[in-house]
Amino acid sequence: MARVLAIANQKGGVGKTTTTVNVAAGLAHIGKRVLMVDLDPQGNATMGAGIDKRSLDQSVYHVLLETAGLEHVRTRSPAANFDVLPANRELAGAEVELVDLDRRETRLREALAPVEDEYDFVLIDCPPSLSMLTLNGLCCAHGVVVPMQCEYFALEGLSDLVNTVKQVHRNLNPRLELIGLLRVMFDPRISLQQQVSDQLKAHFGGKVFDTIIPRNVRLAEAPSYGQPGVVFDPSSKGAKAFVAFSSELADRMAATTA
Ligand code: ADP
Ligand code: MG
Repeated sequence: MARVLAIANQKGGVGKTTTTVNVAAGLAHIGKRVLMVDLDPQGNATMGAGIDKRSLDQSVYHVLLETAGLEHVRTRSPAANFDVLPANRELAGAEVELVDLDRRETRLREALAPVEDEYDFVLIDCPPSLSMLTLNGLCCAHGVVVPMQCEYFALEGLSDLVNTVKQVHRNLNPRLELIGLLRVMFDPRISLQQQVSDQLKAHFGGKVFDTIIPRNVRLAEAPSYGQPGVVFDPSSKGAKAFVAFSSELADRMAATTA
């Protein structure tokens, strides 16, 4: 059965989408079967996987509203070896429309259930909020991976997210756990980043992944070519870090099932 991971952080611009797309490609690179779910109306993960969000007939929006089955909406990334459940701005409407519907938090979980056996990993790119969409991601996940920049306010936002994960675990999804914190866009020359990184280690210990993703312009350039950085420039520092992280994550998940 697939391990379902939500890539979440309620802040915007912290590296969620870059992490999701590159880990999808990184896990595919080491032979894992991967489905990437774009749960952000910005559709950046969709575009980053090489799929034009403007040309979609159907998207994750239709899956959540149950007007289309997931097996008809998922598509293959033309850039790398993984499947994609794509999104575009239409998804913003789901936030409002779901509120009045039954099973509103578990729609994605129910949609994924029939295909979970086809994958080793399902990666969900969450929007920058603790909204109904993110809740759908957390309700179907085994674990949460939190990308974060080592900046002054990073720790502050983290407690809200950790509390949300605890609440969802208690009330809606007992299998949910915090898998780990991933330090991204890291620049070792900035001493504040080193300090915050040390603080993270002190507070969260083993929950902090060993791999650090450096700030690397090739990762930022890749989406405009419709490719994950891991595919766009495999020899870049950023790509190598994401491939290393993908292995670390796969090992960590294997250890938690054992
Ligand atoms: P989020 O999904 O959390 O909003 P993104 O993954 O879209 O964040 O990243 C925000 C911006 O930072 C994007 O322009 C992205 O290309 C850039 N970026 C992300 N990770 C890196 C990195 N390691 N090095 C350089 N730029 C990065
Ligand atoms: Mg994003």
